Amino acid sequence: MYLLYLDESGLHASPYFVLAGLAVFETHTGPLSSEVDHLLNRYIPAPARVEPLRATAVRSGSKPPWDQLRQSSRWSLLDEAYEVIRHCPAVLFGVAIERAWLPAGEDEYLLAIESVARRFDGYLQRRACAESVPQRGIIVAAESPFRQRIETLALRIQQEGTRWGDIGNLAEVPLFTSAANSRMLQLADLCANALHARYVTGHARHFDRIAAQFDETDGVVHGLWHASLDYQTCPCPGCLTRRIAGQDPTARS
Ligand SMILES: [Zn+2]
Repeated sequence: MYLLYLDESGLHASPYFVLAGLAVFETHTGPLSSEVDHLLNRYIPAPARVEPLRATAVRSGSKPPWDQLRQSSRWSLLDEAYEVIRHCPAVLFGVAIERAWLPAGEDEYLLAIESVARRFDGYLQRRACAESVPQRGIIVAAESPFRQRIETLALRIQQEGTRWGDIGNLAEVPLFTSAANSRMLQLADLCANALHARYVTGHARHFDRIAAQFDETDGVVHGLWHASLDYQTCPCPGCLTRRIAGQDPTARS
């Protein structure tokens, strides 16, 4: 069983909405969570293991315990956290939707989570073929104001069998849990923040560290979808590899 942990970024006045995270085989979640605990224990005093790691909180340093750290230490902590993602046995998925691109009436969160779900499903299908063993997946999303929308969607799927009905390898509709209690969701938060910074401000320091971890096959980075007005010229790995392969960068799955 693979678990795909997702978090979003760009909730308010941002020109982008981002949903991103990491897919991990079930036996890898424990060691990866411990690795994050050990990292935090080197920066903040015990009991660091109960302290949530959120990219925006660490970066701003305005609240405890992050206000106890110098800016250089907080940046170093974030750099190290992205190195954990870079070297862990996880595959990344992310969708960055430019709000100016979004068709009128389209729900950005539903579009994003359906797109991620289809990409995750494609990954599971390839894993199953490669290993000759069926692979199932569950999406675990951070609690957010979108929960009700997703639950409404899930109900509609059950009733109508549409939209996600052809996604065969996902065992459940998304589960929701608090990011404060899940190191894996906190790593998903880091992924979403890295994408948001890359696409909104051009600050690619953290995105570049993890860019090679997005699901990729046959030279196309399927795990990263950038829905943008500039898709014909954008140099990001999602747009560029699709153009080179002759695919439409705006295709939704
Ligand atoms: Zn792009």
